[in-house]
Amino acid sequence: MLRFASHDEDLAMVIGHELAHNTQRHIEKSRVNAAAGALIGGLIGALAGINTADLGAQIGRGAFSQEFESEADYVGAYYAARAGFEVRGSADLWRRFAVRNPGGIHLAGSTHPSTAVRFLALEQTAAEIAAKQTSGRPVLPEFKAPPAP
Ligand SMILES: [Zn+2]
Repeated sequence: MLRFASHDEDLAMVIGHELAHNTQRHIEKSRVNAAAGALIGGLIGALAGINTADLGAQIGRGAFSQEFESEADYVGAYYAARAGFEVRGSADLWRRFAVRNPGGIHLAGSTHPSTAVRFLALEQTAAEIAAKQTSGRPVLPEFKAPPAP
């Protein structure tokens, strides 16, 4: 990933993104989803007489990963901005990464939002942050719903 970071702003966005995965508790939530998926897969398998628990776990794990990636991009941009970095133009980092590694940003098995959707969202986030900075409003992410406890 660091090969694609051509300046400090890029690095700040990557670190912000990874930090957001942690602060938004995505790993923990993924495990819950995987466990629920395994349970559902196991129940279906028991009824059908085949072992589908692993398949269920995979489905469960993937269920919210795009949502988590989007949230990590969004919250991560705020971390970078609050640390004093310019986040406008940061979509270029992901663009460069996508060209070289279209398979994914994270470990195998993780799905992430389509690159076009991701770039658009990042640009919207950068504009949202800039509007808050210029108007003097607090530079804090907007959450549609409070984060789960
Ligand atoms: Zn991520």
